[in-house]
Amino acid sequence: MKPTLYVVSTPIGNLSDMTYRSIEVLSQVDAILCEDTRTSAVLLNHYQIKKPLISYHEFNKLEKEDQILSMLSEGKNLALISDAGTPGINDPGYEIIKKTIDSGYYVVSIPGASAILAALVVSGLVIQPFTFIGFLPKKSSDQKKLLTSYQDRPETLVIYESPLRVTATLKTLFNVFGNRRVVLARELTKTFETIIRTNLNDAQAMEHNTKGEYVILLEGFIQKEIQSILSIEDEVKQHMKTGMSEKDAIKTVAKARKLPKNDVYQTIKTK
Ligand code: SAM
Repeated sequence: MKPTLYVVSTPIGNLSDMTYRSIEVLSQVDAILCEDTRTSAVLLNHYQIKKPLISYHEFNKLEKEDQILSMLSEGKNLALISDAGTPGINDPGYEIIKKTIDSGYYVVSIPGASAILAALVVSGLVIQPFTFIGFLPKKSSDQKKLLTSYQDRPETLVIYESPLRVTATLKTLFNVFGNRRVVLARELTKTFETIIRTNLNDAQAMEHNTKGEYVILLEGFIQKEIQSILSIEDEVKQHMKTGMSEKDAIKTVAKARKLPKNDVYQTIKTK
């Protein structure tokens, strides 16, 4: 088999969330690339895995590429892990994965924990489609710009956030999206795991623990919101303002409200 880079998921808190295969692979590779060697040492010691560790993190990831590719060229097999969860998911990994593929070596996924799916499946929000945003930009204007582009999207949005910014972010979300269902998944798989299922209005007014790790999940745009605010006539007019013909606007509203087209037509003609 060609030299391989294994992309290995590790737990997001609970050390028991290692898979048998991940332990097997980490025990067999020639070296392990990891973000913080001290953090990974805790996990690897727990599973009695003794392998050379190569530091591979946000600030040295480009410098390390030559060393990694030269090890693969010598026929070595390597594993890539991050401090928690799946490498590459808001963690270093993408660049070396791409380089390894482009250089003709194998890249093999060893799946496991990731906060995205762990949070999504217990949120009670629509599971698919969903969009993973990851961390929001730091600058408030960039944040608003990005979030506004998701305003009309129907899918559940998944956001990673630091505990220190959770309250500010919830306020921004409320300003951009209005009142929608929101779920805060904190400290998943850990002793103080907490899932808060509420709405943005209440969430932005609550006190939130400034410790621990958070995933924020936001309900997608639902047509119901418009329907409760606008009359049929106004909704048709609103679509027409965007350049839609009256016929298409009637069709769109009928579809969204699950009404026969003729009913929508009659309603606006009798006004
Ligand atoms: N690679 C990781 C993954 O696959 O989920 C994500 C790493 S990213 C640097 C860290 C962020 O993931 C945290 O700020 C938080 O938003 C989320 N996260 C990680 N572990 C979590 C946990 N146990 N509970 C809730 N959120 C978590």
